[in-house]
Amino acid sequence: MNERYSRQILFREIGKSGQEKLLTSRVLLVGCGALGASHAEMLARAGVGKLRIVDRDFVEFTNLQRQTLFKENDAAERLPKAVAAQKRISEINSETEVEPVIADVNNSNIEALIDSCDLVLDGTDNFQVRYLLNDACVKHNKTWIYGAAVSSYGTTMTIIPGVTPCLRCIFEDMPDAGSSPTCDTSGVIMPIIATVSATQVAEALKILVGDTASLHRSLMQFDIWQNDRQRITLSEPNPDCKTCGHHIYEFLDAEAQEFSAVLCGRNAVQIAPPKPTQLDLAALAVKLANLDDVKQNEYLVRFTTGETEVTVFRDARAIVKGTDDVSAARSIYARFVGV
Ligand SMILES: [Zn+2]
Repeated sequence: MNERYSRQILFREIGKSGQEKLLTSRVLLVGCGALGASHAEMLARAGVGKLRIVDRDFVEFTNLQRQTLFKENDAAERLPKAVAAQKRISEINSETEVEPVIADVNNSNIEALIDSCDLVLDGTDNFQVRYLLNDACVKHNKTWIYGAAVSSYGTTMTIIPGVTPCLRCIFEDMPDAGSSPTCDTSGVIMPIIATVSATQVAEALKILVGDTASLHRSLMQFDIWQNDRQRITLSEPNPDCKTCGHHIYEFLDAEAQEFSAVLCGRNAVQIAPPKPTQLDLAALAVKLANLDDVKQNEYLVRFTTGETEVTVFRDARAIVKGTDDVSAARSIYARFVGV
């Protein structure tokens, strides 16, 4: 075995047999932003054999403060993150095979994406995809590791279907659109990304080498600025959970997932939230206060970002003008309104 892993092999819990397992492991990374880029680098350095990296976005200069895989050149060229990640990982560990997938994760492709992967890591920035991922992973009995970070706060939980509670056992309903802070409205600092992603990757290594007895079995919460750490121990799955108790996959099956539509001839995309809600437009305007050109009246909030103008209505529907690319529009919605 390659000398490069010698220090990891000396670590008794991994050892030679664990390293052999890592070399033949296949991991799906959903999202390659700050968390995902960090997962990709750590897993590639650890010698994981194959990474399937799915992301819908391009590298931007605002990413470079925390998204460790990317460089100024990637932002200047507006490279898709999945492609930029593949390029960088080939320089870090040429033995790790990377399959880049430039796609918006939705209920038409999630089951194919998780197929043939041993483990799934959450590096997304929105609950829409996380609930979908939870449905797909419970349905196909795949372990996945939830992770989220915004501002100086982050959280993570490892979900083994049938063994631990699933995402819906803990958070039964998806938060309303616009109700949660996002990195584009509240900011984010890199140390919380490092904390959450390191916890997720440590769990991933334990799972891949077969040391499930060492998993933390809890909902971990960190605030790296307020020096706060909480660990809520998780017990059994909830037998009444719709997803893992009753095997009703609402997010995977629902027609209501039809979330976005190109408005023909208008160079615009309409985004509608997956469940009806009433937005607090004044609160949204405050959240967006750092952007230029935010206008609010009793019916809507309008703001611009880059080349696009976004109009958000009281029912949380939005028109993203200046693009006919649905995944770009969904990305802007997730970043600035939040789901
Ligand atoms: Zn459940």
